[in-house]
Amino acid sequence: MIHPDSPFPRVAFLITQYNFMASVVIFDIKRFAVHDGPGIRTTVFLKGCPLRCWWCHNPESQAGEPFTVEVDRMVDGRKVAGKKTYGEKIEVADLMEILMRDRHFYEESGGGITFSGGEPLMQIEGLAELLESAKKHGLHTAVDTCGFAKRAHFERIFAHTDLFLYDLKHMDPRLHEEYTGVDNGLILSNAQFLLENGADLIFRIPVIPGINTSDSQVSGMVGFLEERQEYMKEVHLLPYHRIADNKYLRLRMKNQLPEVHEPDLIFMERLKVKFEKSGLKVVLGG
Ligand code: SF4
Repeated sequence: MIHPDSPFPRVAFLITQYNFMASVVIFDIKRFAVHDGPGIRTTVFLKGCPLRCWWCHNPESQAGEPFTVEVDRMVDGRKVAGKKTYGEKIEVADLMEILMRDRHFYEESGGGITFSGGEPLMQIEGLAELLESAKKHGLHTAVDTCGFAKRAHFERIFAHTDLFLYDLKHMDPRLHEEYTGVDNGLILSNAQFLLENGADLIFRIPVIPGINTSDSQVSGMVGFLEERQEYMKEVHLLPYHRIADNKYLRLRMKNQLPEVHEPDLIFMERLKVKFEKSGLKVVLGG
């Protein structure tokens, strides 16, 4: 007998009404996230990314499959060798059940679920099922994307995505390719497709001193956004940070930006003004 005041058995009941076929490989679930869309959210991080950004703060996301590395842990002041696995495969139904546990927080705060990565569109089958299921349960959905995915994949998820958090990294195609491994042609054209079709879209710019912050690079981005500002919601400027330095060491991956400093608040405020001069709505952080 299901108690009428107990949300969890009811959640399980609701979820079993749909036939989920797919599974996804994830590497993290962040509850009570407040920077990945409106309200209080749960952010799911899916593994796999077609880009290799020099500033990536989730290098463990890039490979599509789970992997294990050897790590040292401190136990009672002594170094002990151990292992750490990044990523796990999970059925869509099981993941939805976890996500629905916080539905009351979403409802109270105007929040919902955000799918991030990695690049979530790399796992299009699972992502599409998750989004569809979330919408059937009345949840707000957001997809945090680098934009480098087939147009058909965006078409597939469009109807079930309430908000796109869309990366804009560099306007110069050659430098974009140098710093991320791909040029920006497909990314910009997918952004245009989403905007023309009325998507709610926030552009998110990682601010990396020396990489995309020169006057000409900033005016290139401002010009691109200015032409589209009546269709887009706002732009978020995300300061580069060095929190991934230890991850690169642990994963034995090359850190491509060992010398770059985090931009300070004065730098970020000045940059914000440059974007705002064109009438853009700008948020520091996101
Ligand atoms: S798109 Fe994001 S996850 Fe992929 S490499 Fe770049 S920063 Fe990392």
